[in-house]
Amino acid sequence: MFQTDFSYSFYKKIIDFCNEIGSIIPLKEYDRNTSNEINFIWRHDIDISLNYALTMAKIEAEHGIFSTYMIIPDSPLYQIQDTENRKILCEILEMGHEIALHFDIETAGVKNPADSNDINTAINRDIKKITNVCGTEVNSISFHRPLQKFLYGETYICGCLNAYSSELMEFYISDSQGSWREGNPLTSLSKFDSSVGQILTHPIWWAEKHMTPTQTLKNHLARQTKTMTRNESANYKEILKQTVPGVRQ
Ligand SMILES: [Zn+2]
Repeated sequence: MFQTDFSYSFYKKIIDFCNEIGSIIPLKEYDRNTSNEINFIWRHDIDISLNYALTMAKIEAEHGIFSTYMIIPDSPLYQIQDTENRKILCEILEMGHEIALHFDIETAGVKNPADSNDINTAINRDIKKITNVCGTEVNSISFHRPLQKFLYGETYICGCLNAYSSELMEFYISDSQGSWREGNPLTSLSKFDSSVGQILTHPIWWAEKHMTPTQTLKNHLARQTKTMTRNESANYKEILKQTVPGVRQ
């Protein structure tokens, strides 16, 4: 049975495996019509903290690959306007990665999720927020806990390439909640027989040495709440629990 490995050395193995089959690209570089080669779209949804994203971005750049970092403009866990976070986002961009929108219907101020206009307005508002902070165009979108209608949905939403569109979901593996649902990603990739694959990872789960998601969250929580009051700390813990509901803390 596959023992999950969230060490950076295993991460590099996944990269090397994909590089042997095709090219690893960020979402914005994907174009089915002009591409004849096999592409692996590489994306990260940043649900918890930008710090882990920065480490991951450096590892990838050193390893010669560029990917998409999808951020939540009004995340309750990190503020993209903070000086430190702005710096991180600039650094990630300067390395050659893409910054794009991770759309969270809960925090984006959507009053009626059944109303497409309402959703589109919120998406456009979020896009502007990212552009204002990062000074970059937003070309791609992924959904935090996607509504059914966006899964295997349209290729473009509000002018952004939809990571959950049907053509990008032919082959899709993800480390959501610190677990590869399909088992060993290298085994999944060895059965790859499509022209495009998508790999989603969450930088928080990865570290120099493998740790279980429970341990990772525990460490994160301890670091994050060190200088918080008791109330702030309880509040942070609750939001974290809601963000990654499948992992015990
Ligand atoms: Zn998410």
